[in-house]
Amino acid sequence: MTEPILEARGLTKFFPTKRGTVRAVDDIGFRMSPGDTLGLVGESGSGKTTTAQCVVGIYAPTTGDILFHGRSIGATAAKRSKELKREIRIVFQDPGSSLNPKRTIKQILATPLAVHHLASGREQLARISALLERVELPPAEYLYKHPQSIGGGEKQMVAIARALATDPSFVVLDEPTSALDVSVQAKIINLLLGLQKEMGLTYLFITHDMSLMRNVASRVAIMYLGKLSEIADTAEFFQRPLHPYTKMLLSSIPVVSDEEESLKPAKGISRGEIPSPVNIPPGCSFHSRCPSRLDVCDKIDPATVEVAPGHVVRCHLYPGPQEGSS
Ligand code: SF4
Repeated sequence: MTEPILEARGLTKFFPTKRGTVRAVDDIGFRMSPGDTLGLVGESGSGKTTTAQCVVGIYAPTTGDILFHGRSIGATAAKRSKELKREIRIVFQDPGSSLNPKRTIKQILATPLAVHHLASGREQLARISALLERVELPPAEYLYKHPQSIGGGEKQMVAIARALATDPSFVVLDEPTSALDVSVQAKIINLLLGLQKEMGLTYLFITHDMSLMRNVASRVAIMYLGKLSEIADTAEFFQRPLHPYTKMLLSSIPVVSDEEESLKPAKGISRGEIPSPVNIPPGCSFHSRCPSRLDVCDKIDPATVEVAPGHVVRCHLYPGPQEGSS
């Protein structure tokens, strides 16, 4: 693997509440190479968004660290350098609430340029126009519009342009299409893929949509109750899913042909609700929903094992060398 652009090491983020401690992210690790798209997939409450928020500095980790080009960045944005804030940007799920309705698109895009002292006056206008062109919005038509006068897809294009204003190398995409009509989702995805190629971007793509990852991600990571249950390169992941939770997610993907249906993992899986993150079951946190559970599963938390180069799984069905040897 080339030198990672971003690495999470033993990353945890806990939130104390009146009902107990929410273990939102619990000792996870992953590495991303430049140009990667890591699809971080999980149900609501899995910890994927909290992980993303630690990467962009909305939260500081409770323990563990995040490294960017080998240097620790594990602090909130307030403590990060301006250079780091320019390099790591985020596109939020709902462009409607992330864009100030009182400001024109020109003013919205001017803000990061001004905050980071990147351009002012005529140069600023030229850069704003170039950003709009980059996201396929004609400047003459959109510069002086307000967010409420444009559609959801166009708002998300403006949000993407705002994220790109500082010429970042790493962008967190927090469910960037899930709040949009199906008709514009493909357009936004194609735009993001084109921009990645053109600008050499690395994406951390947060989603609950497993089928989207097949076409977008270079690697896929599955989160469940704050922990990573499986990570693999996309082709390996879809050809040889191992973790019972991954198989459950894959079995529920809608398909359009009998051929695709035959490639899906068998169903036969009881799909209960995800347990509360303040009351995580002992042993493997998936054991209450798992159709393959073993006697050990409700007692001992499984170790993380690399079962093939780059393919990592956390499950007693795939014991490490020591666990498996008699
Ligand atoms: Fe299922 Fe046990 Fe594997 Fe957990 S460790 S996913 S309960 S088989």
